[in-house]
Amino acid sequence: MAASKEKSIKADANDGAYLGTRVTLRYCNMRKSAPKPMPPGISDKRARLLLVNASKWMNGSTLTYAFFKSPAKLTAPEAQKDAVRAAFAEWKALGIGLNFTEVSSVANAQIRIAFDPADGSASYIGTDNLSIHTNEPTMNFGWDLTTPYGHTTALHEIGHAIGFPHEHQNPKGGIVWDEPAVYASLAAPPNNWTHETTFHNIIEKITPDSVQGSAWDPNSVMHYEFEPGLILKPAKYKKGLTPKGGLSARDKKWVRTFYPPLPSGSAAKISLFQSHALNLKAHQQADFQFVAPSTRSYTFRTFGTADTVLAVTKKPAKKGAATEVLAHDDDGGHERNAEVNVKLKKGDRVNVQVRMRYVEKSGEAAVMVF
Ligand SMILES: [Zn+2]
Repeated sequence: MAASKEKSIKADANDGAYLGTRVTLRYCNMRKSAPKPMPPGISDKRARLLLVNASKWMNGSTLTYAFFKSPAKLTAPEAQKDAVRAAFAEWKALGIGLNFTEVSSVANAQIRIAFDPADGSASYIGTDNLSIHTNEPTMNFGWDLTTPYGHTTALHEIGHAIGFPHEHQNPKGGIVWDEPAVYASLAAPPNNWTHETTFHNIIEKITPDSVQGSAWDPNSVMHYEFEPGLILKPAKYKKGLTPKGGLSARDKKWVRTFYPPLPSGSAAKISLFQSHALNLKAHQQADFQFVAPSTRSYTFRTFGTADTVLAVTKKPAKKGAATEVLAHDDDGGHERNAEVNVKLKKGDRVNVQVRMRYVEKSGEAAVMVF
């Protein structure tokens, strides 16, 4: 795909020295997520589901992004920024419930985009972006985005930013690596990766359900292109694996699992002291509106044995601003419920969002404000 792709150099068996395959593509270096330790004793199924949706945004969120204007080494010509804008628009055009808005100041953006060629292409995963200092980029592009490979790179990094990991690390794919070849070739230019970086981005298998669906999608935009000599099995990929490029059919389906189109009309109202059943399966979300009848502090709480994320948010005050999160709690993996307290003035209108992370049977949870 990349114009500069060179022929692989085969190992020379007679010479004794291992030359290995030479990777000529530069790869995304996914930023490490904060560890999400699971409490001991929880079931495998529960742990797996919790991992899948660990860093997903609330559906309906407006995410803001901005490009660095200085220092010069973090900036790029307009054509590169347009390629990123087009990639955001392409994800949005799938009809997903997330919104993306460009803002002018990186300090006000949740996704802060730089173009440092020395740093390669990279992004943090989903809501992990929120833990990065606002001075720092959360996404970097290290090569030309106006080529087909660059277009796929832009879609790929945004895929990380909305919570998706690497598809080639899906254990369902059963990729058996020629590990010495992978480590040796990635340690060389143009990637110059450490052993640890290569392990983190390629060799390490991700918990099955934390990658895209149950089966493996070698055409996913979250899958690297591999040159010959890196994959031992499946045998047909010994000569290399080239995803089709762009968003695959399953990427489109899977992203709508987490971020389905928003229902038309306004969300159901939630009233004081009334319990609302949550008929949700894992990954699904329910939205309610609450209008404060008087000025005081309100408690919003989920009930039942489910693992939920609960957020109380306000619509962006003006067009182009991020969703304002007034309070947020996540009881994933814990034997307690999500609960937040929010001080509201009489007449304040807020959104109450509950995302189901894990539940044995739908209908075993409820939400209440009191
Ligand atoms: Zn990546």
